[in-house]
Amino acid sequence: MKALLVDCLATVDGKHRTTPDVIGTGPRYVASIVENLGWIVDLIEIEVILLNSGILKSEYDVLMISAMSSDLKAVKLLISMWRNEHGDKPVILGGPISFTDKVVLLDKIGADIVVVGEAEKTLQELFPLINDARDKLRHVKGIAFKHNGKRVFTGYRERLSKEEYNSYTPEAKYVQNYRFYKARRVYVEVVRGCSNFYRPMRTYGVEKKICINCGNCFSNDLKRRLTCPENIPPGCGYCSVPLIYGYPKSKNINIVFEEIRKLVEAGVKRITLSAPDFLDYQREELVDDGILTDPRNPPANTEAIEKLFEKIFTIPEIAEEKISVSIENVKACLVTEEVAKLLGKYLRGSTVNIGFETGSFRQSRFMGRPSTPHENLKAIKLLRKYGLRPYVYFMHGLPKQSRRAVDDTIKAMRKAVKFGAERIIMYKFVPLPETAFEGYRPSKYVLSLSRVLVKEARRLNRELKNVFLGKTVKAIVASKDPPIAYMLKHGPYILLKGAKLEPGTVIDVKIEEIKSSRLVSGRISKIYKC
Ligand code: SF4
Repeated sequence: MKALLVDCLATVDGKHRTTPDVIGTGPRYVASIVENLGWIVDLIEIEVILLNSGILKSEYDVLMISAMSSDLKAVKLLISMWRNEHGDKPVILGGPISFTDKVVLLDKIGADIVVVGEAEKTLQELFPLINDARDKLRHVKGIAFKHNGKRVFTGYRERLSKEEYNSYTPEAKYVQNYRFYKARRVYVEVVRGCSNFYRPMRTYGVEKKICINCGNCFSNDLKRRLTCPENIPPGCGYCSVPLIYGYPKSKNINIVFEEIRKLVEAGVKRITLSAPDFLDYQREELVDDGILTDPRNPPANTEAIEKLFEKIFTIPEIAEEKISVSIENVKACLVTEEVAKLLGKYLRGSTVNIGFETGSFRQSRFMGRPSTPHENLKAIKLLRKYGLRPYVYFMHGLPKQSRRAVDDTIKAMRKAVKFGAERIIMYKFVPLPETAFEGYRPSKYVLSLSRVLVKEARRLNRELKNVFLGKTVKAIVASKDPPIAYMLKHGPYILLKGAKLEPGTVIDVKIEEIKSSRLVSGRISKIYKC
């Protein structure tokens, strides 16, 4: 049996990935699980299929799609292309999109089965039944499907335990199914889940739920934080991570090491340790029963983090900086002098993302944020002090975006730049299914304030964009035509002048022109021998 697995993650309409140089972990996990069940899996990016729809003419028994809720357009297009070639052969949809309204997923865009939440165990139970009568699927927890014209949801599956989570590893070989994989940032998941079990002060949706200050969110008994008498979902009001994945569970050091070692063998040159908060790594080991529902205490498990880095840096190419290692996100409330120093020891020169979201303390508290604006600024300063390059994320269009909150955010953005932020990323609030802010729609007034924030972020980025001008950076050729390279330690994409080199070639480039905050151009000054 043969499955086609299509990575649509963050592609919106299927044509442009919002972060084109990233290869996520989810589809590689799925491919490995299904392969272990005896299937042949072709993992392909949707962009490739849209360029060559002939791929769909091959013999496949099932289409699997991995997508986010923002990718509905891409998924709809792909399913209609599949139906043209393969009729009613099953379409299985999974990833963060699975929390979208099932009427939309099953009726409007035409998926046959939706795998809701963590997919590992569900796929193991689902695949042996894929060609059986639909009513047998009722026994598989964690799926939605249609039977006799009616939608059936079999209920949420219990989340994977830490031990179960550690029993799954994505096969490194699947990374080679991605275009330009040698130059892209390949994510290696080291933590799944989020420790922020604070909650927003109210929800927006069919039902308005308001915090009654029962105290659970701040209880010293971390188990109590799991439940809210008003059923307000945990975490920041706009985010679905705690809801989908629960509190954090970390990958064991040896498993992370093995995955990275195999990726290096496969030719990968940029590794990003992925986690909603890297500083949650093995922090669950410091609390009773591993129930890590406090984003602030205990402090980061620096001993475990140091051990992880020590192990990863035994790989010669990484120690010699021929291959870069970076981390994805940190929560500011866990960044101390000790933590920043430790990160700087191993990751000097690489970028790190900090979710700031708002400069308003009141808005921040309202949304259930784990760190205060003051802590965010302090973290930026510390990380910069120890040689990291903070990318700072703000969001516009959120609830409580008043004139005052906007003024506070503008001040915070300016201070963030002053304290060492390399880029301000201002993104638009998009209501995600089943989150506390699912039903929030900004008014015209709020949207007019959003424009002020977007304008200021653009202005600051214009000031920042020249940081690379005249500098020589190490980069990897991503494609020959057009001649594009990615910075080894991340940064704007580079349009190469001069020689057209093979993808994967490591080079030094002198940056000669800044085209935008995301694109620069430069001349090759050195070619490294591999
Ligand atoms: S658990 Fe619910 S009611 Fe209690 S403090 Fe948190 S949000 Fe408020």
